[in-house]
Amino acid sequence: MSLQSKTALVTGSTSGIGLAIARALAQHGANVVINGFGKPDAIETERAGIESEFHVRAVYSGADMTKPDEIAAMVAEAEKEFGAVDILVNNAGIQYVSAIEEFPVEKWDQIIAINLSSAFHAMRAAIPGMKKKGWGRIINTASAHSLVASPYKSAYVAAKHGIAGLTKTAALELATHKVTVNCISPGYVWTPLVEAQIPDTMKARGMTKEQVIEEVLLKAQPTKEFVTVDQVAAIAVFLCSEAAAQITGINLPVDGGWTAQ
Ligand code: NAD
Repeated sequence: MSLQSKTALVTGSTSGIGLAIARALAQHGANVVINGFGKPDAIETERAGIESEFHVRAVYSGADMTKPDEIAAMVAEAEKEFGAVDILVNNAGIQYVSAIEEFPVEKWDQIIAINLSSAFHAMRAAIPGMKKKGWGRIINTASAHSLVASPYKSAYVAAKHGIAGLTKTAALELATHKVTVNCISPGYVWTPLVEAQIPDTMKARGMTKEQVIEEVLLKAQPTKEFVTVDQVAAIAVFLCSEAAAQITGINLPVDGGWTAQ
């Protein structure tokens, strides 16, 4: 399968799942726009590495996913640079773990902005170009938490359930335009995001690190293994293929059986 002559914009792709998706799409020939925060040197190393390893073009956008204007400008710049955004992967996301009554209001707003509203803003900006070309793929990184809940993750669970609904709505609106819209819902994937929530969960539940991994993170994952970023990226590549042209509006769990329970 070749994605040569396609351009993919992947939000939150300086790390974790987004970086693996950007690299996998580039490996199949797509030019990529990477986005996210991090140390400039490290980001430049990743960007240049994608270009030299996969012989595609890669550009970086530092757009902040809490800022609608920056999101729209990022899509416009990508269209100017490459002529189109054929594949949009809304992946940027953060987590915060706290009981609702203690949940900081600014954290709620930030999570809804990054994990949910940014996908709306990016889709709003990219859909006209996809409709014009008569081809497009929109992939949203949701989560098992778009299907089921866990305590202390109110904003995250609300945002991820929201992204699942947004995905279905967009799929129906674009169904006759050869633009598919789907979400991938990983269970626990070993990334910086998961690692970073261990201390807060230890505090919230009074547990050791090992207990958090065994009794919280992998408790609900029947395979008792973390999902890998490459497994998620391979699904994203598949959803971009012609074999997946009739798959739209789905929420595909990649969760070791978590949501089968
Ligand atoms: P990560 O922390 O490794 O990566 C998050 C990315 O988002 C980074 O590139 C970061 O710079 C970027 N980002 C954060 N705030 C941003 C902002 N305001 N503007 C632009 N970019 C911003 O996390 P990850 O685990 O790879 O998570 C990626 C996505 O996968 C998220 O949507 C997350 O909810 C989802 N997810 C992760 C897991 C998991 O277990 N890791 C499970 C299910 C879903």
